[in-house]
Amino acid sequence: MSRRSEILAEMGLTPVWKLRSVQEQPEPEQEQKQETPSIESMDWPQLKAKVSGCTDCKLRAGCTQTVFGVGDEKADWLLVGEAPGAEEDRLGEPFVGQAGRLLDNMLATVDLERGRNVYIANVLKCRPPGNRNPEPDEVAKCSPHLLRQIGLIQPKLILAMGRFAAQTLLGTDASIASLRGRTHQYAGVPLIVTYHPAYLLRNLPDKSKAWADLVFARKTMAG
Ligand code: URA
Repeated sequence: MSRRSEILAEMGLTPVWKLRSVQEQPEPEQEQKQETPSIESMDWPQLKAKVSGCTDCKLRAGCTQTVFGVGDEKADWLLVGEAPGAEEDRLGEPFVGQAGRLLDNMLATVDLERGRNVYIANVLKCRPPGNRNPEPDEVAKCSPHLLRQIGLIQPKLILAMGRFAAQTLLGTDASIASLRGRTHQYAGVPLIVTYHPAYLLRNLPDKSKAWADLVFARKTMAG
């Protein structure tokens, strides 16, 4: 018996009480749950992770991968399209198919280039099957991701390409023809509406109008 135990026994303090170190004491249960931030308060890594793991609508089950967006995350120019097509779904980047090549060529005519002070994103991050139009519930579920991209980029100008981009960002069901040629606002950011490049591939005469829209956007950006 140790000296300490002997003394405690002499004092009638049996069974012998042991001091327990602080570490041995049971920890109060820690709240381990991490709160998931809301989309509108996410930073870039959180938003990218949210999109790549998203199953908020039925589209993710039918596409190869999500297509988040591409370019300079501090760009002055934000170009917004509709949804990934087959090539975008395969490669994971917006506007890399035929419509994308037309877009790149049109951008070059006004001295703009993908990735150089330009960011490109779509309203939907997943390809609708057979390139069908986005459905209202898909736009409702996915557009918060685009809105957060806009909040993070803080572009100086948004070019909405086609009906779905324009109508989603402006909250209208007006036609492209009626929205072109003037400056709208999205959350204080000038927004210009133009035709979707895929539409232009089918309607070549309207290419000159889309080019005029780009020139107008350039002038608006220059102030
Ligand atoms: N059409 C779009 O709207 N977006 C793309 O990324 C490709 C084609």
